[in-house]
Amino acid sequence: MANVVIVGAGPAGASLAYLLARRGIEVTLLEREQGFSREFRGEVLMPSGLEALEQMGLQDAMEGVPSQEQGSVSLYMNGSLIFDQALYGKRFERHLPRAVSQPKLLEMLVSEAAKNQGFRMEQGASVKGLIEEDGRVVGVRARTRQGEERIRADLVVGADGRASIVRKKGGFRVKHSSPPLDVIWLKLPCPTNWTGGRLYMGRGHFLLGYRTWDGFLQLAWIIVKGAFHQLKEEGVDQWIDEMKTHVSPDLASHLEAERGSIHKPFLLDAVSDCVESWSVPGALLLGDAAHTMSPVGAQGINLALRDVIVAANHLVPALERGDPELLGSAFLEIERERMREIRTVQRFQELPPRVGFSHAWWGEAARFTAAQLARFAPVRLIAGKRLAIFPFGVTEVDLRV
Ligand SMILES: Cc1cc2nc3c(=O)[nH]c(=O)nc-3n(C[C@H](O)[C@H](O)[C@H](O)COP(=O)(O)OP(=O)(O)OC[C@H]3O[C@@H](n4cnc5c(N)ncnc54)[C@H](O)[C@@H]3O)c2cc1C
Repeated sequence: MANVVIVGAGPAGASLAYLLARRGIEVTLLEREQGFSREFRGEVLMPSGLEALEQMGLQDAMEGVPSQEQGSVSLYMNGSLIFDQALYGKRFERHLPRAVSQPKLLEMLVSEAAKNQGFRMEQGASVKGLIEEDGRVVGVRARTRQGEERIRADLVVGADGRASIVRKKGGFRVKHSSPPLDVIWLKLPCPTNWTGGRLYMGRGHFLLGYRTWDGFLQLAWIIVKGAFHQLKEEGVDQWIDEMKTHVSPDLASHLEAERGSIHKPFLLDAVSDCVESWSVPGALLLGDAAHTMSPVGAQGINLALRDVIVAANHLVPALERGDPELLGSAFLEIERERMREIRTVQRFQELPPRVGFSHAWWGEAARFTAAQLARFAPVRLIAGKRLAIFPFGVTEVDLRV
């Protein structure tokens, strides 16, 4: 039977390990970190991501992953409420967006994978390079707790995120389209009456807030790329003063009251890119390693899970037959099926920051007009249809193996 090395136990790597191991394929999952409470990663799962987990047969296991549903969206312009819209309709009835604990989600995926004999995971194993023979990747070099190891494989999957070593060492070419924004993340106690997700915009500012799975308020303050250095010098107290002038009075007084309890804030350097080809002979990239997503619309985890479903559909039959040529065609099919969704979502993600931060003469007028139009329910309905790709994805994705 074929054996597969997966580099990275994020959402992409852990879920692929589970799907392959479930089909009796030998899988070695290598993760650099010792535990799952790694640096903060996204935690909003969209209905598209939740459907993907359901298709993987994990709906019962998901019950054990702490989460917080987000049942509405509200928009504020220059501090005033424009609308507060409950998320409704058949597809939202099945799944509302949810903030989940990413460490618990990953723990769950790995423990489901571990129910299968051929699964092995090594934590604290950092992949340093690829082993190549006759122009084909045939394994990885890793620094593990036992020392330097060479691990051979019929297939190497790079699911090692935005700074992927497999991408780098495999010579994958990348097209960048970095959005002109960075994000400052802050976590603080949540007001008791807070519901759903709130978006504050106006005067060149964006601020997003939602209640987390552990009952805190997560704020994402979206800033123009490069503005962080100045903000860093100013310090958290000044940020709070600045934010207070852009949000509604209830949030402003909450920020003032909780000034002292803000968790260590950090900056996310927003990146959006995609490799020109997802594979080289013997190796395939998935998730952020193949296409790092901008934070707009909370897409990265969801798209990674959907990549994995399509990948499993094509990889399982090829690995079962043990035919390298079939594996090569599977790589091309996976990329072909996924690229439409990735390209469309990345294109849509570019729009809000361009309009939101535009200093062109029409910028403020466009923002104001859009906000006023959004007061009307029929306009929201039309806009909602266009924006449905964020909660539901672009293409049909069905697990067949
Ligand atoms: C601050 C922040 C907020 C975000 N918010 C959201 C959100 O709300 N919703 C959403 O859908 N997406 C969000 N995203 C994006 C989302 O987190 C990523 O798109 C998603 O985690 C990608 O999954 P992945 O499995 O491809 O990669 P990752 O989650 O990055 O996992 C890669 C794994 O590989 C490991 N690794 C890396 N290098 C090596 C190596 N050399 N050897 C071994 N292991 C290695 C890493 O330790 C990591 O565990 C956010 C991202 C950030 C940074």
